[in-house]
Amino acid sequence: MAKKISSLILVLAVLLALAACGGAKNEKVRVVVLGFDGANWPTIDPLIAAGKLPFLKKLKEQSAWADFRTDKPTKSSVVWTSIATGKTMVKHGILDFAYMKENNIQVPYSNAEKREPSLWQMLDRFQLRSVVVNWFVTHPPDLFNGVMVSDRFRQIMIKKPEFANQYVDTVQPKMDFYRLKQVIRRDYGRTIERIGMPDFPARFEKTHPGQDFRRHFTLQNSRTFVMQDALVEDVTDLLFQKESADLYMTYFRLPDITQHFVLRLLPDEFIAAMFPQGDVWDMSAEKQQQVIGRISQELEPVYRYMDRLLEKYLSDPKFKDAYFFIMSDHGFSLYSGGYNHYDLPDDMPAPPGILLVKGPKVKPGKTDACIYDIAPSILYLFGLPLDRTMDGKPLSDIFKLGRKVKYTTYVLDKDRKGIARKDSDQETLEELKALGYIN
Ligand SMILES: [Zn+2]
Repeated sequence: MAKKISSLILVLAVLLALAACGGAKNEKVRVVVLGFDGANWPTIDPLIAAGKLPFLKKLKEQSAWADFRTDKPTKSSVVWTSIATGKTMVKHGILDFAYMKENNIQVPYSNAEKREPSLWQMLDRFQLRSVVVNWFVTHPPDLFNGVMVSDRFRQIMIKKPEFANQYVDTVQPKMDFYRLKQVIRRDYGRTIERIGMPDFPARFEKTHPGQDFRRHFTLQNSRTFVMQDALVEDVTDLLFQKESADLYMTYFRLPDITQHFVLRLLPDEFIAAMFPQGDVWDMSAEKQQQVIGRISQELEPVYRYMDRLLEKYLSDPKFKDAYFFIMSDHGFSLYSGGYNHYDLPDDMPAPPGILLVKGPKVKPGKTDACIYDIAPSILYLFGLPLDRTMDGKPLSDIFKLGRKVKYTTYVLDKDRKGIARKDSDQETLEELKALGYIN
């Protein structure tokens, strides 16, 4: 009898051991998503060619990459939510009201509240753990297995240190706020030196002596934006190192911010020559290249910073076998008199962003992908079911993997979703106004 029991225990032990590794299909998948708002190939490629972005050059050769197709309205809040949900604006509910009005889009909702689960909420259903830093439209932070530093946390940079604790509800779990507070560095001079950024107002004054940089909203706030991205880097470093998770996501926005004021940094004579007064859209291809080339030069410190961030996270031994998704939400377009990704002429398509996918079983080379493909691709990598109502498909062609595709319906658990607060909406509104998104 004793022998029978012990052999039964042995069988059970073997079964348990099999279940422990077999359940995960013998592989531990880890995914890192790095977002860089507004980054685009037309301004990156000249810098790669000039040898200024050594890591990105190598990375592009070793990755599956794409001119990342995006969708109108190319507003960051809308697109980053589409990337995280795999769904269009009308489905996920983070709406651009001006665009809807212009295009006569009717939705049976009046509030701009997210209605669909994001990746971290889909993973949560399968007990997978996520770390999410600074993703667009994440305040108030959601409740899920993991850590969320909402995109409101960075506002701590514009508050006096004695008011910092007012930001405790920008992080979930709240306790994590106190350790993140420790990484805040407030010295602007040392920060720009550390991250290799120029003082943009000083740059403006050099080309425009006697003019006030405060007349331009994004330029006026550029020091804050620089400090905020440096803070995001520090927070990301801490959490990526200390937290054990399945999915890591973080987001930087300097490439977008700087492109919103980059024309201001160029000499008036150059602008006058390239965009003659009352110009209609007839800029020759040659002239366009000249302007893009000039813009690219001006963006060098920003992309060099991106290059170093990529090198840091992709070289981290912790992420040796991880899958990396590096992307932006849109690019920028030259149009009559300007350079933007929004308020473009109707016939101008949404300017594509960048996408790079790197990992142990990724086939390098150019591919085709759109913003709705990211969420299904990440679910696919984890071997989780996809959602039929998603607007994209997994990029299965770029992976040397034989995954069976299953489906389910993911629903947003309203009890575990952050509850909106009026004052923070107001602050977000002010910020968007400063960026020229809202008039
Ligand atoms: Zn954007």
